[in-house]
Amino acid sequence: MTLIKSISGIRGTIGGEVGENLTPIDIVKFTIAYTRFIASKNNAKRLRIVVGRDARLSGEMVGNIIEGTLLGCGVDVINVGLCTTPGTEMAVITHKADGGIIITASHNPKQWNALKLLNEKGEFLNDKEGKQVLALAEQEDFLFPEIDAIGKVVLREDFNPTHIQQVLALRLVDVEKVKARKFKVVVDAVNSIGGVVIPALLRELGCEVIELNCEPNGHFAHNPEPIPQNLTEITEVVRREGADLGVVVDPDVDRLALVNEDGTMFGEEYTLVAVADYILSREKGNTVSNLSSSRALSDVTVAHGGEYSASAVGEVNVTTKMKEVGAIIGGEGNGGVIYPELHYGRDALVGVALFLTHLAEQGVTMTELRKRYPAYFASKNKIELTPAIDVDKVLRTIKERYAAERVNDIDGVKIDFAESWVHLRKSNTEPIIRIYTEAKSVEEADALAEKFIAEIKEIAGL
Ligand code: MG
Repeated sequence: MTLIKSISGIRGTIGGEVGENLTPIDIVKFTIAYTRFIASKNNAKRLRIVVGRDARLSGEMVGNIIEGTLLGCGVDVINVGLCTTPGTEMAVITHKADGGIIITASHNPKQWNALKLLNEKGEFLNDKEGKQVLALAEQEDFLFPEIDAIGKVVLREDFNPTHIQQVLALRLVDVEKVKARKFKVVVDAVNSIGGVVIPALLRELGCEVIELNCEPNGHFAHNPEPIPQNLTEITEVVRREGADLGVVVDPDVDRLALVNEDGTMFGEEYTLVAVADYILSREKGNTVSNLSSSRALSDVTVAHGGEYSASAVGEVNVTTKMKEVGAIIGGEGNGGVIYPELHYGRDALVGVALFLTHLAEQGVTMTELRKRYPAYFASKNKIELTPAIDVDKVLRTIKERYAAERVNDIDGVKIDFAESWVHLRKSNTEPIIRIYTEAKSVEEADALAEKFIAEIKEIAGL
């Protein structure tokens, strides 16, 4: 039973009490607040907002409430129906809309849903804008328009094929080269909208597709986060079918994980690394990922003569940094590829098309390609503190102790050592510190985490 209001939107569990969950009343309030925010930037202009949703079970219910609320606010709705997060973003751009709402709780299980809010560029609202929406959600003095001014719906449920064509038309996507390899690909889309768009994209690329959990019925066949412990089924099928690779996406298709031909994981962190390697082999440029992502991206970028920059965690922070440094490729280590040539949003379709072009061009297998990249191993841990402990003070103390090292404090404390790094972040909702480490072996990554857990305990007096 949770409702989390943050700058990136509102996220919660379905059912239960108002204000404690994502109930119809909370959805209405938040949709009105977003409408008022968009209206405030557009002086009395009649607004058009794109609404798309992933295939989760509550999507239709949440979508109908949002759509009705927007109409009641005098806003025209471009309803793209079942659509991916990147597809909805592209629909905002393509239809020159004033904003967009994506109904998805991303990789969270079925009881969750959320509203992700987009600006007129199809990009997530930034910190300041998100705070404005949250403030507006506290107000209840809205004057609704009268009968002749209520909104109208335009159905554009055919947007997914448009998005696919936009991806295939990218300069660095070589459709013919990929077709020539006749890849055999297993797809696990956890029974959400990726089950429609990813096989369709792959078939346009001349691949033989084996569909696994590709019915967009919202019955998630496993925990939808595309991490190794949730992906046992596809690794088995890739091996059994003698496929060239496996493709896994989360329910809203902004994260992409790949499986090697022998059933091992290519590694979610390495999706972006491989795609960046390809882009940088064609064009000189810079890259960006968040502080918790693998150092392999920095290594590959430097090898190509580019410059790597790290951003705070959160997609909008990554894209802001990418614009600042003029990055030509970037994203998140969790399999989120952002290619500004198409748009500033994590896009698994872009990731698939660019990755397969790279694999086709290199003429190697997945395991061979993976071996070309520096091997790093991550360890993700957390430490629970008590509410009485001043978490900021703990982090400050760590920062001071390691002042002689390369320290970045834009988002928690990240310390880069010669062969490893640690990133400590506090949670905004619970008294915990997350401890992410990366090193040249699993044992070293675990040992580094243990060392910092011990140090935090000592500082906190636990
Ligand atoms: Mg997602």
